[in-house]
Amino acid sequence: MKFIHVEHKNIKELVINWHITEVCNYDCKYCFAKWGRPKELHRSLEEIEKLLDYLASYFIKGNSTLKSELGYETVRLNLAGGEPMMLGSTFFIVLMLAKQKGFKTSIITNGHYLVNSRLDFPKNVLDMVGISFDSQDLSTREKIGRVDRKGNSLSAEDLKIALEGLIETQKGIKTKINTVVNSLNNEEDFSSLICELKPYKWKVLQVMPYGADDLLISKEKFNQFVVRHSGLGLPLFSESNSTMTESYLMIDPLGRFYQNSVSSIGYKYSDSINQCGVESALAQIAFNPKTFLSRYRQIDIDVIES
Ligand code: SF4
Repeated sequence: MKFIHVEHKNIKELVINWHITEVCNYDCKYCFAKWGRPKELHRSLEEIEKLLDYLASYFIKGNSTLKSELGYETVRLNLAGGEPMMLGSTFFIVLMLAKQKGFKTSIITNGHYLVNSRLDFPKNVLDMVGISFDSQDLSTREKIGRVDRKGNSLSAEDLKIALEGLIETQKGIKTKINTVVNSLNNEEDFSSLICELKPYKWKVLQVMPYGADDLLISKEKFNQFVVRHSGLGLPLFSESNSTMTESYLMIDPLGRFYQNSVSSIGYKYSDSINQCGVESALAQIAFNPKTFLSRYRQIDIDVIES
C-alpha cells in the first residue's frame, strides 16, 4: 500500500484582490470584468476607510483561526478593475491608506493613466505593478479592443515610460507585464521588447473563453508561443486555461467577498463587508482555508483584467 504524505504548507503572503471598479477606458473583447450597474464603494471615502480598517483588523492585526491556518506573514491588497486608475485621486488615496494600515499594495492596470495623467503618482505607495500589454502593433491592439474612445492605446514606448516612472517613484517596486495570448497576437515576437524592459516577471496567459470566440486559441498554439519565447533568458511565466487557479480572496466593486460557486455557474457573493464584518462575510461565501491552501501557489498578481 502506498501512503501519500500531504505536507501542510503555509503561504507567505495573503492576497486580497479588490476589483475596485468595473469602469474602464478600454473595451477588450476578452474582458470578464463586467458587473451589473454599480453603486461602487469607492464613491465614499468613509466607506473606503471603513473597509480597509475592517480588512486590516481581521487579516493583519487580528488572531483569527484563518490567520493561523494559512500562516501568512504579510497581506497584500491588489487593486484591479475595470481600470483602477480611472478613479483618479481616489485611487491614490486608497493606496496611501492601505499602506498606512499595514498592507502591501499592488495594482493591475492597462497603463494608460501611468502616462496620461495630470496627477503625480505619490511616492512609495506601491510594492508591485502588473501592466497589461498584448501587442506592439496598434492595429492588433485596436482589434483586441485595447484602445480608448479617442483611439489612444498604450504603445511599447508608453509601456517603457510607464515602467521607468514607477521605478523612479516607488522604491523597490516589482514590475510585471501581463500578456493575454489570443488569435491576434499569438505569432508576435515579444523577445526583444521584454529583454529591453526587463520586468521582474512577464506573465503570459492563454485567453479565457469569456468574450468573443474569435480570439480563442488552442492549447497547442499557446504552447508554441511559450516555446518560441523560452530559453532566451526572459522572465517568462505561463498559464494556460487549464492551469489558472484562484489563489486570492476577491472583493467586488460593492465591497462584497465573492468566489466561484462550487455547485453552479457564476459567483457567490457575501453581503457588504462594511455592513456585516469580515468574519460573517467570509462565512457567507463558505470560505474554506483548506481548499484555499490546496489551490494556492506562491505567485503574485494573477488576474488578467486591465
Ligand atoms: S481587460 Fe482590462 S483594459 Fe481591457 S476592458 Fe477589461 S478592464 Fe479594461
